[in-house]
Formats: sequence, C-alpha cells, structure tokens
Amino acid sequence: MDAPIIRLRGIGKDYVIGDEAVSVLRGIDLDIWRGDYVAIIGASGSGKSTLMNLIGCLDHPTRGSYAYDGQDVSGLDNDALAKLRREHFGFIFQRYQLLGALSAVGNVEIPAIYAGTEASRRQPRAEELLTRLGLGNRLHNRPSQLSGGQQQRVSVARALMNGGEVILADEPTGALDSVSGTELLHLFDDLHRRGHTIVVITHDPDVAARASRIIQIRDGAILSDSRPGPPAPSAAALDRPTVERAGPGAFVGRLGEAARMAVKALAAHRLRSFLTMLGIIIGIASVVSVVALGKGSQEKVLSGISALGTNTITIRPGTGFGDRMASRIRTLVVADAVALAAQPFTASVSPEISTQKSATLGAITTSVSLRGVSAGYFDVGGFTLREGMLIDQAMIDARAQVAVLDAEAYKAFFPQGGSVLGKTILIGKVPLRIIGRVEATSSGFGPTQVRVFTPFTTASVRITGSNTINSIAVKVADTVTMADAEGQISALIEQRHGKKDFFLQNADTIRNTITQTTQTMTILVAAIALISLVVGGIGVMNIMLVSVTERTAEIGVRVAVGARRSDIVAQFLIEAVLICLLGGLLGVALALAAGQVFNSFQTAMKLSFSAPVAALAFLCSSLIGVSFGFLPARAAAKLDPVEALARD
Ligand code: ADP
Ligand code: MG
Repeated sequence: MDAPIIRLRGIGKDYVIGDEAVSVLRGIDLDIWRGDYVAIIGASGSGKSTLMNLIGCLDHPTRGSYAYDGQDVSGLDNDALAKLRREHFGFIFQRYQLLGALSAVGNVEIPAIYAGTEASRRQPRAEELLTRLGLGNRLHNRPSQLSGGQQQRVSVARALMNGGEVILADEPTGALDSVSGTELLHLFDDLHRRGHTIVVITHDPDVAARASRIIQIRDGAILSDSRPGPPAPSAAALDRPTVERAGPGAFVGRLGEAARMAVKALAAHRLRSFLTMLGIIIGIASVVSVVALGKGSQEKVLSGISALGTNTITIRPGTGFGDRMASRIRTLVVADAVALAAQPFTASVSPEISTQKSATLGAITTSVSLRGVSAGYFDVGGFTLREGMLIDQAMIDARAQVAVLDAEAYKAFFPQGGSVLGKTILIGKVPLRIIGRVEATSSGFGPTQVRVFTPFTTASVRITGSNTINSIAVKVADTVTMADAEGQISALIEQRHGKKDFFLQNADTIRNTITQTTQTMTILVAAIALISLVVGGIGVMNIMLVSVTERTAEIGVRVAVGARRSDIVAQFLIEAVLICLLGGLLGVALALAAGQVFNSFQTAMKLSFSAPVAALAFLCSSLIGVSFGFLPARAAAKLDPVEALARD
C-alpha cells in the first residue's frame, strides 16, 4: 500500500462559455490508494462529475498531471485510454445507462466484447456476476422489464465484467427508492471488502457515511479530506478475469460482435429499418430488372437470328445499319441478283423488296408493308405455314399475282378469323390472290408490322414499277469459305455499280450490331436506375445520421466501458451495410417475383436473370452502404462521451 493508484497534481479544468473561460476545477491535488472507499460530496455544480470524468479518463484536464498506477495518462492516445477504461475502471451512472435493445446478460457482456473475450468465456461470467448480484432469474430480461434497483445492479455487474479495479459511481442511488438504495450500498460494502477501489459521488450523507474517506469539494477545489493518507492495508485479492485478446482473431471476433449488435439494433426498430431499406430495395430491383430485360430481349432477338443460318450473306444499300441515305440509293437492282445467281459460289439468291402500301380487302383498308420475296425467304426468315401454300419458283418466274399474309395481316383483314384462301387483296390498284398464311416463329426486333408477301418479280414489275430492291440474301455454296465469298460478292457488285454504295451482312455482323445496341441501351437505362439506388443510399445516410443523434447516450456508454473509436465506426458502418445488403436481397427478390409475373403474362418480351447481375447488385448495395454509412459512423465516433452521457 505504498504508491497511490490514482495521483492527481494541480488538476484544473476550464470550460469556455461564450468568450469567457470558467474554471470548474482549480488546483486539485488528490491521491487515492488501492482499496480506498472514497465519497466525494459537495454542492451541485461544484465540479464533482467533472472530477470523476477526469479520473475515469473520459475527459482531459486543462492543467495538471494525472498518473494512474504510476503511468502518466496525458501521453496516451485514444485507443490506449479506451484500453485503460475497459481494463481498470467500472462506471456506474445515476440513470444506469443500459442499452435497451440488449438483455441483462448482453449489457453486462459489452466491456468484455471490446476487450476481445470469447463468447464462451464472457457469457458464463456475465451470468455468474448477475446471479451473484441476485439477478439469476432476470438474465434474459431487457432493461425495460427490470425495476430501477435491478437495472442498477445490472450496471454494477457491467462495471465488474472486466475486473472493475476502480469503481466510479456518480450519484448511484440518486434515482433509486430507499430500499434499493440501501441494497446497492450493501453491494458497495461487499465490493470494497473484495478489494475494489470505490469512488462515489453523492449528495446523501447516509451514502457518504459508509465510505472510509470523505472528500468535500466546493467551487472546484478540495475543501476537506477526512483521511489524506493511505488506508489500512487489506488482505483482499482482486479477481482479474480478463486478459485482453489482441491480433487478427480478436479483431475478426469484434467485427462479428459488431455485426450481431447491428442486427439487434435493426431488429429493435423493424418498421424504421424497412422504410430505410425501401430506397435500396427499389433501386436494386429496378437495376436488376432493367439489366434482365435488356438481356432477355437480346437473347430473344439473337435466337431469331440464328435461324438465319451461318452461311448467308445479305447485301444492302448504304454504308451500314442506320444509314439514313440508304433509302435514296437505287442502284441495287434485280439484275444484280441475277448476276449473283450465275456465280459459282452461290447456292441460292433471294432478293427482297420492301415498300409501304395501302391494301384493301373487302371493307377493310390499311397500310401494309409489302414484301417482294423469293422462294427461300420463308425458310431463311423463320416462318411457319399456317394455311395454304408458300410462294414458289414458278410463281416468281410467272410474276404471279399472289399474296401470303403474316399473322398481323391476318388479324387486320380477318378480324372474325376464317380461311384466307381464294380471297383477293388489293395492293394499291393491283389485285393479288391470297394463297397462304404464315406466322413468324420469333417476334424479332422493333415494332410489329402488317406484312403481305408476294413474289419479288411481281412486286418489281406490277407494284413498284422499278427494279430497285432493298436487299439480296446470298446463300453461299459449301465449296467456298465465307470470307472468300464476301470478297467476291463485294468485288462483283462494286464493279457493277462503279462504286461501293452497299454493305454486306452475315449472321455475325447482325449479331454484333444487335448485341451492341441492346448493351448500350441497357447500360443507359441501368445508369438511370442506378441514380435511384444512390438516392436510396442518401436516404440510408440520412436515417443513420438521425439514429446517431438519437443514440448519443448509447455511444457514450460504449465509449465509457472501453469501446475504441474504430469499434464505434465499425458498428455504425456495419449497420448501414446490413441495411443496404438486406435491401439488396429484398430488391433482387422483388425483381425476380416481378419478372415471374411479367414473363407469365406476355411473351413478346422476356426478363432474363443471371447470377452475375445478382452478385453485382449485392456488391453495389454493400458499396453504397459503406460510402453512405461512413459519414454517420464518423459522426458517431467523434462524439464527446462526457457530453453524450450528460445529455439525458
Ligand atoms: P457537479 O457534478 O458537482 O454537480 P459538474 O462537474 O457536473 O458539477 O459541473 C461543474 C460546473 O461545470 C457546472 O457549473 C457546470 O455548469 C459546468 N460544466 C460542466 N460541464 C460543462 C460543459 N461541457 N461545458 C460548460 N460547462 C460545463
Ligand atoms: Mg454531477
């Protein structure tokens, strides 16, 4: 019992109020020895709590020196001070300051969690402490289910969790009825016998009378000290349960605990958590659906194209897809098709003429897309015959006035259904006998068209009156490679036209074009959806900031029992990430459900979901959680624990 455990020399504390500095503590010299039981008394506002917060390393003095167990405290950084608090001090507050979301055991465990103690060791200890304090049948009750006296005993257990070498109690009986107050004082007597050093602030002379030493404070200075020297030695040996665990294992363990506490915090406010998530849910659902829609329509179109076959080359006027001048180019003619047909590398040639015409059947007149086609057209284009027959070579040679309707044309001209055969359709003034009806196997790209097919010779000679054609599809013979055929076709047509006013397409180039356009569109729309996700993130940040303000006292308690700044940051960051991840999960589920409904109601478009998109959604939402949770988490970590605890 030689050196004091707490040694204060010339301690002063100033507060700046307005532009005036007020000295709350002036030149305090104080030694406290191991096993002391000190009562600090004094009028309200005399500086007792300020002194206690300095002793507990929650606050820094303006002047003077403080040595704890021979070690100068002023040189310690935040983490070292947190370590000092959780290893050596146990705080007991007038208003208990328990965390409402946790059970009694959960509250008692907190200091050990920050010390890195494994659950298997800290849980039995928390239960044992509570049982020792007479709360064996209240282990799993929340603070709101406990009386004031019981809550204060839970907070004593929390103070003892890591050893509680020095117990600092600020008006511990202030909120208790006299019976509970007396019980608590018996408890303090017992702790003192067991070797704990106790510093208690009180108004109450009865409380002070139990202490072995009374210090009176007035206006920030010590007025009297009933026993300035060391106490009589005692033989009690303090139990020192916790050994701090450090290293990566302890760090991961603390993160796990932070995650568990975050889950509890979210569960304690279910509706609010859900509403906070809503922005993320909607954002993720829209991003996922848009990408799925893009992918679905792309797949659909591509499957239509693969029906084209890989050995077909199409010649069109212009410089490429989307060339606006292409329709003015009139150089691609029937004679080109005839010349191509004569080449050794062609298996077959099918020109197509496409023109918008007014068509009449009976009482119905409507605009149709008239297609002058060859015999192979229906096979290559992926059509199935529903009624009658298709256009054949004989009809082409004879420029026969025949027509085949597609499904849209059938709908338009035969609203009541029935057979198309034998009817005559007027294209402009040219009558065509309907010989059949087809249906496209794939819906393809773009708006649906009302299509009427006729031999290209008929279209050229009898309807358009010009031999200009819109495209020529060449099926390449097996004997030559596609590259060879492309070279030869290009050379032939260029020679015939005198310039290159056309372009070639094969299944690959079409596929690439479509893939590119749908990808661009998808990225564009997904970017817009992403904005809603960011808005959702801002919502999360907003609520988290509010929650930091609302939970100031909780943060103060956590810091008082030894949380590092990084622990507080981790807790709030994990909460934000959890909200976003959960929101992401619900968003993906919502998108999947909506996709099911969408796909089952109609067939023209399709949603196609993929695992990478879902993974991306989760990555996105956790990223948003981290970036928008950072600000609130930092705000929480920066809170001054003294002010946080005072605000209740
Ligand atoms: P006690 O616990 O003895 O009632 P305190 O230590 O709480 O007294 O406060 C002592 C004085 O310091 C009071 O006059 C109080 O108004 C002032 N004080 C305490 N904390 C602050 C603060 N954060 N800012 C300004 N003044 C403060
Ligand atoms: Mg006070």
